[in-house]
Amino acid sequence: MDRGYHSEGGLLQVSQFPYHPPLSRAIIKAAEELGHPIRDVNGIYHTGFQIAQTTNRNGSRLSASRAFVRPFKNRKNLDIVMNATVTKVLVSPQTKQAYGVELLRDGNLVNIYSTKEVIVSGGAVNSPQILLLSGIGPRKELDQVKVPLVHDLPGVGKNLQNHVAYFVNFHINDTNTAPLNWATAMEYLLFRDGLMSGTGISEVTGFINSKYSDPNLDHPDLQFFFGGFLANCARTGMVGERVDNGSRQINIIPTVLHPKSRGELRLKDRNPRSHPLIFANYFTHPDDVKVLVEGIRFALRLAETKALRRYGFQLDKTPVAGCEGLTFGSDNYWECAVKRQTGPENHQAGSCKMGPKDDPMAVVDAQLRIHGVDRLRVIDTSIMPKVTTGNTNAPAIMIGEKGADMIKARWLTSPTYFFSNPQNNQRVSRQWDGLGVWRR
Ligand SMILES: Cc1cc2nc3c(=O)[nH]c(=O)nc-3n(C[C@H](O)[C@H](O)[C@H](O)COP(=O)(O)OP(=O)(O)OC[C@H]3O[C@@H](n4cnc5c(N)ncnc54)[C@H](O)[C@@H]3O)c2cc1C
Repeated sequence: MDRGYHSEGGLLQVSQFPYHPPLSRAIIKAAEELGHPIRDVNGIYHTGFQIAQTTNRNGSRLSASRAFVRPFKNRKNLDIVMNATVTKVLVSPQTKQAYGVELLRDGNLVNIYSTKEVIVSGGAVNSPQILLLSGIGPRKELDQVKVPLVHDLPGVGKNLQNHVAYFVNFHINDTNTAPLNWATAMEYLLFRDGLMSGTGISEVTGFINSKYSDPNLDHPDLQFFFGGFLANCARTGMVGERVDNGSRQINIIPTVLHPKSRGELRLKDRNPRSHPLIFANYFTHPDDVKVLVEGIRFALRLAETKALRRYGFQLDKTPVAGCEGLTFGSDNYWECAVKRQTGPENHQAGSCKMGPKDDPMAVVDAQLRIHGVDRLRVIDTSIMPKVTTGNTNAPAIMIGEKGADMIKARWLTSPTYFFSNPQNNQRVSRQWDGLGVWRR
């Protein structure tokens, strides 16, 4: 790990899982063979390959809930309401001030009132949905579904982004899947080690610059994931996870990191239990297709390296349905394939984007407060103006931590710090406003 970019202590631990299958190491070697650096991409540089760091403690997954909520669940100033769905934020149409939420619990609608402010944190799909149900969003769309308008905010639900990928399938001659049995279970339970304290080859990731990105910027536009099971316990239903005729399938998954296509999200109707309508619009911008085809070409080169050759990587040449008429392996073929068999990531972002007041599509300001509505913030991946260059879980947690600082800075009495002036040894006091400004 790049020590300068990681700290110690804190509630959320980040490290590699203990168990690494041999194929993971071979993929890392293959990337090195192609000239890519092997390093901590969560450090000073962002391009390169590595065994990814994960949020885990003692070989098992450490969720944000486990790290930040459960240790404090008994605090007197915290109520956690389970099995409840927020149906809207209560906002006074006159003052445009939020004063609580309406939620559905055990079939009953309940109002909960706030004394300070309301935080919406439903994620990139549900946060805009909740705002729209509350009458905050594009006037015309709210009229269409008969939600009374509280504040016309055209950007709510727009600017929806996601990383998009394509699963390049290979057969390999290594059918040596590890058994998942009582012994491996005991190894995990007793020592937090072994097969069950790992994520298989999905632990490997890599970031590269395609020919369309500026290599001097260290702002890679392609990420690689790797998939394929390594235990012979079950099939997960993912594409290509099969062992037959002495071969096993795995995938190399190039992923577009800076998509230019934008989707959007609208209410289907005014029923809070209806799923919103999501128009992902993947690949509506042609540059996204070009970058992904570059990623596929890289995946093919990786499979041909010396390091991977001993696994006998064979590209699965079954044509993608709808692309049969095109020459397999040509740019035209891959362009067709990525559109027909698109593999979206789960990195939705951007649907309540942060931006200045004069940006008509901005939903929240730099303090994550809704433009034009008082005492209401959104704190989750929806506020990202652009999806991050990599997986979104850690950035989402960072947004949560930063948002918490902003709330504290707004409502807590500013702490006073005392300093000694080394020139005259006199004590001076300063107040810290929590947002980077010292006040006299
Ligand atoms: C299957 C999957 C795998 C992923 N794998 C990875 C990974 O390996 N690495 C990585 O970095 N990222 C991964 N991600 C992405 C990452 O999990 C998300 O980017 C991150 O969790 C987003 O955080 P969030 O706070 O914005 O939203 P969420 O984590 O979605 O949190 C929103 C919360 O609000 C609750 N909620 C929503 N609507 C309401 C409502 N009306 N009332 C009450 N509660 C509500 C939801 O139940 C949820 O608990 C994965 C995502 C998925 C779906």
